[in-house]
Amino acid sequence: MSKTGKILYNWPDSDLDRSLIFSDSSQLKNMPYDIAIIGAGVVGTALAYKLSQFKLKTVLIDKNFDVGEGTSKGSSALICTGFDAAVGSLESELIKKASLEWPGLAQKLKIPFEKCGAIVVAIDKEQEAQLDGIYDKSIKNGVKDIKRLNAEEVRELEPNVSTHVKGGILVPRESIVDPFSTSIAFSELALQNGTDILLGIEVSGFENVGNPIKTIVTSGNHRLKAKIIINVAGLGSEKLAKLYEGENFDTNPRRGQFIVFDKYSHTQISRIFLPIPTAITKGILVTPTIFGNLIAGPTAEDLPHNHESLTGTTTEQLEGVLEGASKLYPGLKEQAPIGIYSGVRSNCSQGSYWIRCNDKHPGILTVAGIRSTGITTAPALADYMIDSLKNEMNLSLEPDPKAVDTRDEESWPGWWKRSYDNPDNARIVCFCEQVTHGDIIRHLDSPLQPKTLDAIKRRTRSQTGRCQGFDCMVNIAGIISKHCEIPLNKITKNGPGSEIASTLLK
Ligand SMILES: Cc1cc2nc3c(=O)[nH]c(=O)nc-3n(C[C@H](O)[C@H](O)[C@H](O)COP(=O)(O)OP(=O)(O)OC[C@H]3O[C@@H](n4cnc5c(N)ncnc54)[C@H](O)[C@@H]3O)c2cc1C
Repeated sequence: MSKTGKILYNWPDSDLDRSLIFSDSSQLKNMPYDIAIIGAGVVGTALAYKLSQFKLKTVLIDKNFDVGEGTSKGSSALICTGFDAAVGSLESELIKKASLEWPGLAQKLKIPFEKCGAIVVAIDKEQEAQLDGIYDKSIKNGVKDIKRLNAEEVRELEPNVSTHVKGGILVPRESIVDPFSTSIAFSELALQNGTDILLGIEVSGFENVGNPIKTIVTSGNHRLKAKIIINVAGLGSEKLAKLYEGENFDTNPRRGQFIVFDKYSHTQISRIFLPIPTAITKGILVTPTIFGNLIAGPTAEDLPHNHESLTGTTTEQLEGVLEGASKLYPGLKEQAPIGIYSGVRSNCSQGSYWIRCNDKHPGILTVAGIRSTGITTAPALADYMIDSLKNEMNLSLEPDPKAVDTRDEESWPGWWKRSYDNPDNARIVCFCEQVTHGDIIRHLDSPLQPKTLDAIKRRTRSQTGRCQGFDCMVNIAGIISKHCEIPLNKITKNGPGSEIASTLLK
């Protein structure tokens, strides 16, 4: 049996089980840690998972009350092949490597994954003329299993594509994934292998950064000690780098808005429809999701860090999304939209995949600008970071023979592969997505012990269907309350300050 790490929440007045509450750094017996990872998005959690295969003392810290609650929760959820990446870039290299790793990795991690393929769709003569260039770029990127299609061939594969279609490129290995399970699965295995995970803890300062053992100051004025600090804080990475006086770089949030369509729409197209990119943007795509819906988006809106509604949506931009996606699949306008969301990319002016080893201080690794492809690249980027830790930061790595790299069979999400051996699985709680009472309980008791409505939503699909939680949210809050012995008025959407009782009364 491997040694499980600690999961602790900085949530003193929450009525959570006391053993889950972080109140003092003396609870962390592993200090000084060999490695502290700041940021539990897909990049930080993938790194924690891969590092947990070695004999190391690691802590993973995030200011949110669940893993994967930053940029990683608001993507298009494509596992890309890199056919259209900048030739010769690190991003291209990592996408290519990761896209080959993902099918096997998804099986190991029990993450829903489907190789549905994509078609780059040209809808006028000008766009058609660009197909050859896109084809050549793909070959240069090492993605050779693509096929040039004429208009008739596109229509044969996808009868509901625009009647204006002039041709396309089939990219058979472009895939879709459950983007939420990624960070969760990586974290659960890292925890199982001994990584401590601290949630709801914001890093607010550093001390002794030039010393072999560094101090991380957190909200609540706690102090954590670590030999190596890895900044994978996404949109928060620039602020952290300024605090430890690393090399200067600038980031800004680049928002992408999406529309989610009801499940019937998925019968209309079976592959990802990609537009011809322009010099400024990759454009609006329309894609099936692994959950059985269609989504259209994203926009690309550059915003300041202090924008009042970073993850908000706007009617004007969503109308643009519908117009853009309808050019590829005109029938979209007849489909029923059931939800909207946005994600916020971390755009770095100095370039994507901006990585600095020993960033002005030995033992600090800064990773910024993981903008548009981080879900795909996370496992390969983790390997890249581990190589840098070994080769440039002299970290000695001894494989841990007790470490596990595979989740149990029952970790498949219920909506994907449900067993009916438990009577609770016959009690539906969320009718839109057919989520059962048993599924909710199973996730409440899962390794990270999530207790918020959003955390349960991302694990079970409850609250994401046609009613968007109107019908089931209060019942689910009741189940959390009863099962975890937390008063109903203390059940939150996503952590302290988002208690639903007060939200509903506002
Ligand atoms: C609209 C859109 C579409 C996309 N589509 C795709 C796609 O189809 N395929 C794909 O591969 N990628 C896609 N991406 C990109 C992908 O989502 C990102 O590259 C990836 O999620 C970045 O992960 P991350 O771990 O770097 O950042 P994040 O997920 O943001 O994680 C960083 C974490 O750091 C934490 N943090 C920040 N500051 C602090 C602090 N001071 N203390 C403690 N914690 C802190 C945050 O809370 C956050 O959880 C898309 C992104 C967007 C926005």
